[in-house]
Amino acid sequence: MASTALVWLRNDLRIADNPALVAGLAHGRVVALHVEATDETLRRRGSASRWWLNRSLRALAVDLADIGVRLVTAEGESEEIAFETLRAHGADALFWNRRYGPAEREIDAAIKLRGRSEGIAVESFPGSVLVEPFDIATGSGGPYSVFTPFWKTLRTRNIAAPRSAPSAAPPISPDAVDTGYRTPTWATKFDEHWQPGERAALARLHSFLEHQLAGYADQRDFPTHSVTSQLSPHLAFGEISPRQIWHSAQSVAHSRPEAAAAVDKFLSELAWRDFNYTQYFHRTDIANVPMQERFSRLSWREDDAALAAWKQGRTGFPIVDAGMRELWATGTMHNRVRMLVASLVCKNLLLDWRLGEQWFWDTLVDADPASNPGNWQWVAGSGLDASPFFRIFNPVTQGERFDADGRYVRRWVPELALLPNEWLHEPFEAPPAVLRAAGVDLEANYPAPIVDLKMSRERALEALKQL
Ligand code: FAD
Repeated sequence: MASTALVWLRNDLRIADNPALVAGLAHGRVVALHVEATDETLRRRGSASRWWLNRSLRALAVDLADIGVRLVTAEGESEEIAFETLRAHGADALFWNRRYGPAEREIDAAIKLRGRSEGIAVESFPGSVLVEPFDIATGSGGPYSVFTPFWKTLRTRNIAAPRSAPSAAPPISPDAVDTGYRTPTWATKFDEHWQPGERAALARLHSFLEHQLAGYADQRDFPTHSVTSQLSPHLAFGEISPRQIWHSAQSVAHSRPEAAAAVDKFLSELAWRDFNYTQYFHRTDIANVPMQERFSRLSWREDDAALAAWKQGRTGFPIVDAGMRELWATGTMHNRVRMLVASLVCKNLLLDWRLGEQWFWDTLVDADPASNPGNWQWVAGSGLDASPFFRIFNPVTQGERFDADGRYVRRWVPELALLPNEWLHEPFEAPPAVLRAAGVDLEANYPAPIVDLKMSRERALEALKQL
């Protein structure tokens, strides 16, 4: 009887450039497994991510069936399900692509040990980063804590070429995948904005390289310019690998030398993802523990009303409110606006960055265990290569600069649509007659600011001094 391999898919929900799947098919018959893990040391997936996951798995089941592979899904404790599934399918091999969080590695190491002691061939592979965190180090051998030298090293590396999609056994008819993983009803509106799955990810990459790349370097900070790739949720679920992106972008730079600078900028942003994965690998629990120890002594305020107003997009700062409403409606937010809304939380409001990180974790479709806490710690100033704590974004001047024509605010905060540009980013300073003419009432239909920018800036700087 032919050997059977279990390929355990985690954050690598794709067929192409999937080393574990290639190994499985070389071994014999393959059964693919996805586990929605309930291990208590693992962070449970947020609501928006569950919405994405369900759709991604449905698409994957169809693609796997095309190469003769059945997808099995289960919710429960990782080790228990892995061994139950191995037994149920008579598999003698178990393959996966590596993940890098401390708790994840501990679980994987235990399963590897037990599997091998029970005579199962267990192998793991690199699949979700450009360079594995343990394979890139400073001159003195330690992990990088600053991005620029990390990037200088990474860009000289020979990034492994992606492996093409395997075509193996004859197709089977796919089972309808009903993961049973709960999807929140509010997320169903994401259907209007996203199409999860590997095919959509590849189409997105090619469309970006063809149509948007040219404007990337100059315009990526402007939320309505639509020049960024929007690949982040596809990357978070591994529907596309960073190596595929790297090599496709490099080949554009070769064939269109005028695009080389934009490609370089784009790949340096992609490298931030790897940089966050090195922090995730080397540090303890980056979603909870500040990377700079002194930040654990900062006295954060408690203010549930302000936190609720921030979540609902009712802070009185139009660009912040636009961002928070975009997040709720679409499961994403433009990068520049993420920085602004995060700065308001941990600096002006002086609320613990972990509260904001948790909200993003629950509501972002691209919620990533390395990049979400990594970026929150960057904004809070507690990361290793962080924006200094004294750099406090002013949401009014940032709005005027990055949304000068007000298209972004008008789209997401329609109650301000009739305000002239001059006052759009600070309605609280507009003369009463202007507000009246635009139908804006700062008590009735749009809030006055929940915090004074000048006072809160000084308060944040004072808190920093106390450290
Ligand atoms: P592009 O500009 O097209 O970039 C290409 C890819 O590079 C992205 O898809 C992403 O994988 C990577 N990338 C770009 N910028 C960053 C960055 N700063 N850090 C890490 N990777 C980056 N990104 C996530 O993928 N998941 C998160 O949970 C997440 N949380 C964030 C929280 C805050 C407070 C902030 C300020 C940023 C966060 N980011 C996160 C980073 C960034 O906002 C998104 O990656 C980006 O907006 C995704 O849009 P894009 O795919 O069009 O990006």
